[in-house]
Amino acid sequence: MSLQVGTREQLVVLLSLLLCIVVLFFDVFSPLGIAAGVPYVALVLVGLIAQKPRFILVLAIIGSVLTVVGYYLSPAGITDNDVVLINRALAWFAIWSTAIVSSFHLKMLAKLEPLATTDQLTGLYNRHYFTSELVKQINTWHRYQRPLSVLILDIDFFKKVNDTYGHIAGDYVLRSLAKICQSAVRDIDTVARIGGEEFAILLPSTAINGAMKTAERIRRETEAYSFKYESQRFRVTVSLGVAELTDDSWSITEFMKAADEMLYKAKNSGRNRCVARNIG
Ligand code: GH3
Ligand code: MG
Ligand code: MG
Repeated sequence: MSLQVGTREQLVVLLSLLLCIVVLFFDVFSPLGIAAGVPYVALVLVGLIAQKPRFILVLAIIGSVLTVVGYYLSPAGITDNDVVLINRALAWFAIWSTAIVSSFHLKMLAKLEPLATTDQLTGLYNRHYFTSELVKQINTWHRYQRPLSVLILDIDFFKKVNDTYGHIAGDYVLRSLAKICQSAVRDIDTVARIGGEEFAILLPSTAINGAMKTAERIRRETEAYSFKYESQRFRVTVSLGVAELTDDSWSITEFMKAADEMLYKAKNSGRNRCVARNIG
């Protein structure tokens, strides 16, 4: 379920409140005290939706307190008091063991998330993350009509770099280029490695002229950069295709295809250049 963080937190608060009321009601009014606090474990599980350990901790504390409150408010004398107390102790055990396991689960998720969204070689975002960001930004574009542009960059004759200086030198070029791209854009832009030697940059709130300026900056900085691997110095150039989202009916594929066609033009017209679609 891909809910916004704020919405998820609101949902957790709402579900928790509902659960507290229902369980406490049964706990207090059931003559045998059947609830015995154990259903408060569900509170901790609801906390998982927020994906924040502090939510789980707070809900475990609330569950533990209500377990005790339920004990004092429920009708006395019907069941053996020792059994009721043992049930309450078991409820605490269930609540806290679930809270510990859930927090551990969230910690593992937090560790795995960067691996799922990052390209290991360059540290940039990967294609999967880029696509999810593209979906978000296209939705925002539909809602607010703020300009949105994309760049696709491809290294020129990269095969030759690998063949001449070796694959490890090629990897070094990819890492250096990632840094050049990242330092040429704003914090709100998304830079990703979407293929072997192909990068894509998503520029929110940027029309085609601004996107072309960014593309030119990257192209010039790459051209001027002296790559140094072991004792060898060499130069590398890049070609870029630039497109702005202008058509209501465009899907992600069509938007990316528009930039890709411009990249193709840049390659065919001599490389080491930027070509933009419908520049004003
Ligand atoms: P063009 O100017 O037309 O783009 O030519 P090119 O040589 O850059 O394009 P081509 O598609 O022929 O070659 C791309 C090369 O990129 C081939 C492949 O070995 C290399 N490559 C892809 N991924 C990696 C990688 O992770 N590391 C290194 N070192 N090379 C890679
Ligand atoms: Mg390529
Ligand atoms: Mg290439």
